[in-house]
Amino acid sequence: MTESTHQIEGGCHCGNIALSYQAPLPPAEISIRTCDCSFCTKQGAYYTSHPQGKLTIIISDRERVKKYRFATLTSDAWFCTRCGTYVLMTAEIENHLYATLNVNCLNDLHFNRLTVPALSLSEDSLEQRLSRRQKAWIGTVTISDKADE
Ligand SMILES: [Zn+2]
Repeated sequence: MTESTHQIEGGCHCGNIALSYQAPLPPAEISIRTCDCSFCTKQGAYYTSHPQGKLTIIISDRERVKKYRFATLTSDAWFCTRCGTYVLMTAEIENHLYATLNVNCLNDLHFNRLTVPALSLSEDSLEQRLSRRQKAWIGTVTISDKADE
C-alpha cells in the first residue's frame, strides 16, 4: 500500500458480509454519488467505486447472503439476510466481476449527504450500462469465506 491508497473496512451490520476496500486515493478524493433509480432511492444508497480499487468481500455464512436482481437483470444487489443490510452491487461482465460499494456500509468515511451528486441512468442503454460499469466500478473483486476461528 502506497501513500496514495486508503484502506477502508466495512460490511453489513451483523458482520456476516465484511468488506475490505483498498481505494487508490486519499480519503478526501474518494468520489461518492447516488443514483435516482427506484431501488437506490428506496435504499437511500450512496456509492463509491474506482476501477483501480481492490475489494475483498469476506463472507461468514453464505446461506445468509441474498442477491437481488431487478430492471435489466445485469447486476446483483447484495443483502445480508440476518441483519437486512444492503451492502454492495456487483456485475459480471465478460467473465469479470465488478463492484460498487454502498458507502453507508463503510466505516469512518464521512461525507456530506446534501452535496452528493445524483446520477440519472434510467435512459442508458444496456450497452452503456455495461460499459460504464467496466470503466467506473471496482475492477479487482475477490470473494472469500471467513476462516474459522
Ligand atoms: Zn448482516
